[in-house]
Amino acid sequence: MSALRVFKFGGASVKSAEGIRNMAEIIRRQTSGNLVVVVSAIGKTTNALEEILSLYLAKSDEKANKLDQLKVFHTHIATELVGDSSSSHPLLAKVEQLFAELDEKMKFPPSGGYDYCYDQVVSYGELLSTTMVSFYLNQAGIRNRWIDIRKCLRSDTSYREGVVDFELSQYLCEKEFCFDSDHLFITQGFIAGTAEGTTTTLGREGSDYTAAVLANLLDATDVTIWKDVDGVLSADPKIFSNTCKLDFISYQEAIELAYCGAQVIHPKTIKPIQNKQIPLYVKSFINPEASGTTIGHSDVPLSLPPVLILKRNQALVSLTPHDFSFVIEESLSKIFAILYRHRVKVNLVQNSAISFTICVDDEHLRLPGAIEELQKTFTVRFNSNLELLTIRHYTSHVVDEMVGERIVYLQQRTRSNARFIMDARL
Ligand code: ASP
Ligand code: MG
Repeated sequence: MSALRVFKFGGASVKSAEGIRNMAEIIRRQTSGNLVVVVSAIGKTTNALEEILSLYLAKSDEKANKLDQLKVFHTHIATELVGDSSSSHPLLAKVEQLFAELDEKMKFPPSGGYDYCYDQVVSYGELLSTTMVSFYLNQAGIRNRWIDIRKCLRSDTSYREGVVDFELSQYLCEKEFCFDSDHLFITQGFIAGTAEGTTTTLGREGSDYTAAVLANLLDATDVTIWKDVDGVLSADPKIFSNTCKLDFISYQEAIELAYCGAQVIHPKTIKPIQNKQIPLYVKSFINPEASGTTIGHSDVPLSLPPVLILKRNQALVSLTPHDFSFVIEESLSKIFAILYRHRVKVNLVQNSAISFTICVDDEHLRLPGAIEELQKTFTVRFNSNLELLTIRHYTSHVVDEMVGERIVYLQQRTRSNARFIMDARL
């Protein structure tokens, strides 16, 4: 088989007709070999669908308006792409049909729990975007096949956090992606399917992960994630000044950065490609010829500049057993079992003799339930509206500059990381 590459285009790259045309040009330049293109929902569609879901669950009349706005947004882009606004146009009819299906689903009273409903609704973002992209590419002479990834990326029924069955998915994907007859495939990121044929999602921003998993399953030579930045940067330029691009980082470094909260790639993305030593390129879709960042294998320690990672919307939770007994293994395992059950993401832990402190994502759907359960055994103290700043490869100069006189609730330093929990800046 000739070489296979995997490309992933995120929401920002396909947020308009112009963006989709630009993406088509990047794909067109890929003249030889096989290519699988993983696409996210258009622009901020996933957020909009989350909102529509909440309105549906709250039985709010506002839902119809929001759904209509989203439909107008997609129809507008589709119209611009095909240069035709008649509703009988095959692409416009298809967009209409997907919205009608989604609307139909929400005519029934919600059942199956929040996470299940979430996946059935929010997955439409990727179904819409890939349908539009695939149609447009074919029309532009870039022959491709649209794949419904739910048929071949098999997950369990952990809705909103589907766990991929690699073995079965490999078997199914090898059949579905048939490179004998086609060389370009367009498919959805973020979503998967269960054995029962229901839809799951793989966690917010999960399209990078999909690209990595497909690269692993189909033995790709490399993966490229196309973004609106030049590559992996030393800090988010929207928050910090003086950022620089990292030319090369190891898989290990990428995992550490993602774990600390770097937005650039989804934390789960690295393992599937590292296992097969597949390089990952992070490149700019605005400047596609530029070199970007390569993430790959390295035997030698690399010297990297200080990297700043800010995680917002954090809560600090301190737990003390009601009877003031020492926090021993049993308490710890109890705490983690509760946090895991409620899917609360723990970003940092610190313990003392009688108390245990964790910094967690302050997710309003998950944290309150966990706290309520923890309160049965522990006295819980709670601070919210905090931010967690990680300075990786820190220097005292950068720590002074970034933290200075600010009030620090908790800090932790290892040889490579200095982490600070502080009040959120306005
Ligand atoms: N559309 C999904 C999200 O916004 C998945 C992704 O973009 O990777 O979370
Ligand atoms: Mg997205």
